[in-house]
Amino acid sequence: MSARVECSTCNGTGFTLSFVDYGPPREDESGLYSIPCPSCDGVGSMTAADHVLHLQLRAEGARLRAHRVAVGASLRSLSKHLGVSATEVSSWERGKVAMSDACRAWMTAGGAL
Ligand SMILES: [Zn+2]
Repeated sequence: MSARVECSTCNGTGFTLSFVDYGPPREDESGLYSIPCPSCDGVGSMTAADHVLHLQLRAEGARLRAHRVAVGASLRSLSKHLGVSATEVSSWERGKVAMSDACRAWMTAGGAL
């Protein structure tokens, strides 16, 4: 089965608003730009299997963020502890990509998984 479902991140439009750092925004700019949706690669839809995976990553990311905040760790300190960039940890928390095995182990050790 590879039924296609509407991407929940961009509501099927293929584009999502995102902060893009092009330097200091001008007065009339928010720094928010419409960019191709990173979840569905801008196509606006994904297979049912990809959609399930996407929802799982989002749920795990939310759990990671909740656990990190609960133990009082900053993005910076956790990323340093796991040997990755803060950007990487942030993308795990937003469910963009699956967290590393080391992070999974850290969650498990803390009773969060
Ligand atoms: Zn999308």
